[in-house]
Amino acid sequence: MDKYLIEVVEDDASVRNLITVTLKANGYRYLSAMNGQSAVMEAACHNPDIILLDLGLPDMDGVEVIRRIRSWTETPIIVISARSDDDDKIEALDAGADDYLTKPFSVSELLARLRVTQRRIAHAASAAPESIFHNGPLTVDYASGCASLKGAQLKLTPIEYKLLCLLARNVGKVLTHKYITQHIWGGNWENNIGSLRVFMATLRKKLDAGSGSAPLIQTHIGVGYRMLKQEAEDNNTQEG
Ligand code: CA
Repeated sequence: MDKYLIEVVEDDASVRNLITVTLKANGYRYLSAMNGQSAVMEAACHNPDIILLDLGLPDMDGVEVIRRIRSWTETPIIVISARSDDDDKIEALDAGADDYLTKPFSVSELLARLRVTQRRIAHAASAAPESIFHNGPLTVDYASGCASLKGAQLKLTPIEYKLLCLLARNVGKVLTHKYITQHIWGGNWENNIGSLRVFMATLRKKLDAGSGSAPLIQTHIGVGYRMLKQEAEDNNTQEG
């Protein structure tokens, strides 16, 4: 299998060095950029598989880099930022980032995020628009509008089912409150944040009650939710 090509966008030489050394040691190819302009150019010229992006760049805000890259490609972008403010994460995610890591981060955490994203890429590539979604104990049959856990049908309200489908179709990706409420209810999303919390709580209760495994939906407090992609059963499972 070809090695994944990762673009590293980071103006801080020591952090860039840490990331590129880690990538190299773990069998990735990489290219790097030190500012926003070259980040956009490198992405256009080399078509990387995944982009690791610092938000605080000398010439351009990282969010602007996301917007420009998103104008032509859906290449996954993982934000790596010292900004721990929820608003910054939300802005980056709403601009089209797939995930974020807050500095300081551990090398193992970085590698874990890369693996999650690779699984998502592989999943998207293999899936001709699929009619049945499988993830660990969960099955969603889009065509018949049914969801089940370990073969037992889930009794979901229409809104809960819509939420589940939205999360399933974006498995592995953090979805912001704004993104979710706009897809479910449209209109003025701030008015529906309360409803989202309620429906998400009932959905999660139903999922956790029947799954007998780790929670399928992860909460990012103040930001949004993500459905975790569970390891395929023939893979080596890792603790932690
Ligand atoms: Ca920086």
